[in-house]
Amino acid sequence: MQVHNFNAGPSILPNEVLYQASKGILDFEGSGMSILEVSHRGKEFTPVMEEARALVRELMQLDDDFEVLFLHGGASTQFMQVPFNLLNSGETAAYTDTGVWAAKAIKEARLFGEVDVVCSGKDDQYHHIPKNFSVPPQARYLHITTNNTIYGTQWASMPDPGIPLVADMSSDILSRQLDFNRFSLIYAGAQKNTGTAGVALVMVRKSFLGEARRSIPTILDYRVHIQNGSVFNTPPVFAIYIAMLTLRWLKAQGGAAALEKINERKAKLLYDEIDNNPLFHCPVAVEDRSRMNVCFVATRPELETPFLDFCKKENIVGIKGHRSSGGFRASLYNAMPEESVQVLVEAMREFARQHG
Ligand code: PMP
Repeated sequence: MQVHNFNAGPSILPNEVLYQASKGILDFEGSGMSILEVSHRGKEFTPVMEEARALVRELMQLDDDFEVLFLHGGASTQFMQVPFNLLNSGETAAYTDTGVWAAKAIKEARLFGEVDVVCSGKDDQYHHIPKNFSVPPQARYLHITTNNTIYGTQWASMPDPGIPLVADMSSDILSRQLDFNRFSLIYAGAQKNTGTAGVALVMVRKSFLGEARRSIPTILDYRVHIQNGSVFNTPPVFAIYIAMLTLRWLKAQGGAAALEKINERKAKLLYDEIDNNPLFHCPVAVEDRSRMNVCFVATRPELETPFLDFCKKENIVGIKGHRSSGGFRASLYNAMPEESVQVLVEAMREFARQHG
């Protein structure tokens, strides 16, 4: 059965990745052992980790100051680990409040130092990305959430704050071409664009570390993970393997520049339909619309449940909006084929013919 999987994360993976991974589960590269059975320091897994690291470096074109880490605890752990390592008590960090995930990052940072929330989109239900805000020059860093998974907004261009830039890229990493070297630290849970749940990618500049004036528990210290090549303790071996296979696939698609073009086409297809179909409406400011999470509502609320039922019959899954915002959300991550977006668009047209 072919299902069109618009889940927000964990989400669709490329078929090739699933096929390779299924082989790796049964017999990893002729070792007679499953990838689930090998040592994280052994000769089977070490090349997987090295290739994953090298692929991140290559696909993001990172300069030599960057280290690439694969860490436990998802992006949510990074909400805390970033300020734990970087923000001394009494110092200020600047944060942008662009949605639920950004607000969670703010909450954690407040445990460690002063947080200056330099802008917020809360007043209009996070339907736009705030512009024209100023950043205190003495702040240690500015934190942004490049794509807001729940509200369907995305920073179209990166701010230039004149202080180090830290980004949560969980829902749009490697989905578009960016100058990643403009950042001092980037983190992302892998389960949307670069693999499956269980591992977070952290790209951090060595020169940004080392100024913490507090004791950092060993497992939370970035420098420990750098020194130990992400195997200080047992890493999430299988999730890193899936990430490596997905990164290989992303490279084969042509990398960030090629993916950006495909992702733009997919998003345009869907937004054009929403804007032209009288039964649907996208409340997000046009210039801030996400290419990854397309959020929309039914113009007649009584049609919301019937449309979800209609989608179910068409094998379209995962388009119910997040519990905090309602409506619909179609996630168009890197692995989402254009054909599935076309199927969703056709379903919206057919639904409008039946209910128009
Ligand atoms: N940041 C963003 C932008 C997200 O979308 C999510 C998860 N949906 C998170 C952080 C939290 O990620 P995790 O579940 O890996 O902790």
